[in-house]
Amino acid sequence: MKTIIKNGQFLLRENDELIVSTANLIIENNMITSIVKSSDDFNDLFSEESLIEKVNVIDGRNKLYMPGLINAHTHTPMSLLRGYADDVSLREWFEHIWPIEAKLDGDAIKWASLLSIVEMIQSGTTCFLDMYDHMEQIAECVDLAGMRTCLCRGVIDFCSKQELDAKLQEVRALTVNWHGKAEGRISTMIAPHSLTTVTSETLNRLVRIADEFSLPIHTHFAEVTADVAEIKHKYKLSPTRYLLQHGVLNRKCLLAHAVHIDEDDINILSEHDVSIAHNPSSNLKLGSGMAPIPEFLEKNINVAFGTDSSASNNRLDVFTEMRATSLLYKGFKHDPELFPATQVIDMATINGARALFLEDVGELRVGARADLIAVNIDQPHFYPHSNLISSLVYSASGADVVDVWVDGRQLMKNKELLTIDIDKTVHEFKRVYKRFF
Ligand SMILES: [Zn+2]
Repeated sequence: MKTIIKNGQFLLRENDELIVSTANLIIENNMITSIVKSSDDFNDLFSEESLIEKVNVIDGRNKLYMPGLINAHTHTPMSLLRGYADDVSLREWFEHIWPIEAKLDGDAIKWASLLSIVEMIQSGTTCFLDMYDHMEQIAECVDLAGMRTCLCRGVIDFCSKQELDAKLQEVRALTVNWHGKAEGRISTMIAPHSLTTVTSETLNRLVRIADEFSLPIHTHFAEVTADVAEIKHKYKLSPTRYLLQHGVLNRKCLLAHAVHIDEDDINILSEHDVSIAHNPSSNLKLGSGMAPIPEFLEKNINVAFGTDSSASNNRLDVFTEMRATSLLYKGFKHDPELFPATQVIDMATINGARALFLEDVGELRVGARADLIAVNIDQPHFYPHSNLISSLVYSASGADVVDVWVDGRQLMKNKELLTIDIDKTVHEFKRVYKRFF
């Protein structure tokens, strides 16, 4: 199957700079096979021979096509807990959330996760990292939905030895059963929930599993000052030196948050294959603080965006994270040149791919996987189209996304979902919600 998008505005990279250009793009199977700017050249490509084939031709006028957004840290089943514990600190939030989470079963996880997947597709996310339990249910949802994902069975200690052994068994089973599956759209990482919710011994066991399967490690890291104080009190080390001591930084690593870390920590992280998932809305809503993102970038540490869960955000819209980051750091650092639109778009796309250790996604180029979205720019808040790159960050929201493709397959067309029955999903979500609340 070949899809041709004609005369759209495309967000492309030229001489390492993001640009918007009128172009025509061809998708064959799961790849972008051609991007042609000149209509004459395109007409040559679009020969009579190719007309004989089954070709899906799309009029791209009034749409801006860009790489699908990448959400590098979330917990999809927590849509059930949206609005359940607002306006409290992270530690107090856990006190509300954990007792309910302990009761959730596979049926609840499935429909809550699918609702989040719907929300993400509708707002232009094509790839996400999910940390939770009952991950087999989530993997099946992802397979059905056609999304690209990195799945992590998050491990929290606070349980009996038998329960912990069972959790570690699930970590292994998730990787054995799903890593590289769903036409290669699913990968896995090993995920101690955080440095304060697993013991030193459990962290060692998880690092050994990561070594055994050659997988990256993902964890919540230095999210609030209490996390840092606890590690310093128990082990007389900063969280970063604690990671170093346990061999976590010897592997590829994705750290969520990294809000409360100092210059020594940043220097250590910069010497290893570490990415940061920056979750500005969640950090702000929980009053956790603002991560030293300019300092990370200065040291060439890769930074991507996460929404964290809809229980602490309370939305899963990566456009929101782009805008929040750009505006916040400009304001608080008194520097309007910080985080220009091109930089935050990179953080939401190509940096997200690097953070999930994925190749061939995160940009529109020939040979890349066809993970792309279309934004409807024929709306008042996009005119006069004088700077569409800036519009994507300062004017757009997820609600402006109209078309979504992942791995060459269209998941949303003119806002209609093609792989998920939204009415059934909402109906089942409501049924599940009533079982718990
Ligand atoms: Zn999280």
